[in-house]
Amino acid sequence: MVSEPLTDGHGRRIADLRVSVTDRCNFRCQYCMPAEGLPWLERDEVLRFEEITRLVALFARLGVHDVRLTGGEPLVRRDFPRLVGMLAALDGIEDLAITTNGFLLERDAGALVAACETRERRARGIRFNVSIDSLQRDRFYALTRRDALDQVLRGLARLAEYPQAHPIKVNAVALRGVTEDEVPAFVELARHSAYEVRFIEFMPLDADRAWSSDQVLTGAELHAMIDALHPLEPTEREPGATARVYRFADGHGRIGFINPVSEPFCGDCNRIRLTADGRLRTCLFSLRETDLRGPLRDGADDDQLAQLIRDAVWRKELKHRIGEPGFVQPARTMSAIGG
Ligand code: SF4
Repeated sequence: MVSEPLTDGHGRRIADLRVSVTDRCNFRCQYCMPAEGLPWLERDEVLRFEEITRLVALFARLGVHDVRLTGGEPLVRRDFPRLVGMLAALDGIEDLAITTNGFLLERDAGALVAACETRERRARGIRFNVSIDSLQRDRFYALTRRDALDQVLRGLARLAEYPQAHPIKVNAVALRGVTEDEVPAFVELARHSAYEVRFIEFMPLDADRAWSSDQVLTGAELHAMIDALHPLEPTEREPGATARVYRFADGHGRIGFINPVSEPFCGDCNRIRLTADGRLRTCLFSLRETDLRGPLRDGADDDQLAQLIRDAVWRKELKHRIGEPGFVQPARTMSAIGG
């Protein structure tokens, strides 16, 4: 029962699981949540470390070998490095990654890297995506409602001290009227540091439901701006990859574009998501979810859980429908899904 790899009804092999370990966050990004935050999950609604580990081990036996830990902000979850260590020790997880806003990296970078110092994982290390939408202190403050850019950059520099943490990616949500004049600074960061910068198009997953397509600064527009500064050359896109990565023709670094709105990559999507309260989402824009926490806490065995997962994945959405008539923004916001 558990051995067959996970495949959806469109023939796509599912190999990548995003696990939201908390819906809480220490930032209040304008395009994500209101200043006062959101009604957080109660403690007992959130999956416990042992439950997350059991589910991830089960997904691994179903052929899901890439795991990304997200939030909210995963580093605000108490004792998070212990969870990383529990997952790092699992068989069948080839790629373990964390998406963070970097605010607690200065404190936790060492513990997170050390948590992966298991024999199996030492060679593969752990990958980090750090979300930084502005390199200007005042604008960073305006966007995140936190005066935290300096601390985030110190955290990034601390992380960069660990060879096991590389390659480190810096993700910036591209916002029209905001990001354009930050392009040169992000290009310099990409060209003169070990970080790979990627711009992500703004998606309709905001709590204010204020998203509109004219706020989307597309990857193509950013590519044109950057290519005019420093010519870019395309690199091979890996199957299932979200980013289109380019190298600078003069050899100084790489830069990427994640264009879910203008250039969707749903065709070979291999991703599913587990929310902090134990619900399986088969697409970032799913309008339905499958509860795994309930059956798990009611004593379901792994075969029963695997069947629930299989049935849900078989019904995985072909693609998102942003910009199409009848598109419905999911009730759950990005902070409660985890990117
Ligand atoms: S929108 Fe859904 S189907 Fe498309 S790439 Fe994202 S998760 Fe996959």
